[in-house]
Amino acid sequence: MLRIGCHLSSSKGYLAMAKTAKSIGANTFQFFTRNPRGGAAKPIDPEDIAAFLEYSEENDISHILAHAPYTLNAAAKDERIREFALMTMRDDMERLEHTPGSMYNFHPGSHVGQGTPRGIELIVSLLDEIITPSQSTTVLLETMAGKGSEVGGKFEEIAEIISRAKNPGKLGVCMDTCHIFDGGYDIKESLDAVLDEFDRVIGIDKLYAVHLNDSLHGYESHKDRHAKIGEGFLGTETFRAVINHPKLRSLPFFLETPNELDGYQAEIALLKSLYTE
Ligand code: FE
Ligand code: FE
Ligand code: ZN
Repeated sequence: MLRIGCHLSSSKGYLAMAKTAKSIGANTFQFFTRNPRGGAAKPIDPEDIAAFLEYSEENDISHILAHAPYTLNAAAKDERIREFALMTMRDDMERLEHTPGSMYNFHPGSHVGQGTPRGIELIVSLLDEIITPSQSTTVLLETMAGKGSEVGGKFEEIAEIISRAKNPGKLGVCMDTCHIFDGGYDIKESLDAVLDEFDRVIGIDKLYAVHLNDSLHGYESHKDRHAKIGEGFLGTETFRAVINHPKLRSLPFFLETPNELDGYQAEIALLKSLYTE
């Protein structure tokens, strides 16, 4: 069975997200833990969580993926910016223990001229400070498009962060189809070779989730502009191959395409029709 969902607004709480997911044919979803630009999160409502857990159990909603604010930068040069990322992500870790077994995706960061090795060092040290061996959440590094000074555009960089962290067992990867294509991994023409490379460099067992986005720009463009499924350079057939691939087909897939709910609903229906049970 295809595990598929999309990015949803978290403003009305967990139960509302689960109900919205179900109403558009999804059986999982992604959400921002707080305003995507950072700032305070809504306090956790234990009643909402309890109702959400029960509803999800009854309606087979699972593998939910929290997304850190994309403005955080664990690899910043300015210590205050790194401190803000640390405080925010630590708070997110605590919040996510209310929904045990969740995944938490973040953009590794931008080294802003300090160089990739220094960027990696800063990201590892932040992860070592926020991750505890007993937490139930798996923290996912998102594969990036390599825009500007982004760290995480190459599999080697992600592998190094995971292998140097104190708790590598709590870390995994979320592969974004738009980002890796933009970043120089040609999943349109050679998906098998890209996944073999991922397996060789990072280990396919570290792949926990996939972001399904078409790309508004071409291969290796380093632009990171998402397109609707079938309306970008990847094209519908690439998504058929991705969701059915033996190495990927049992993972949860999340749409982050430029859509409102009705657009997501249509894309979810399309992807279900492309999936071979
Ligand atoms: Fe992201
Ligand atoms: Fe993404
Ligand atoms: Zn993106």
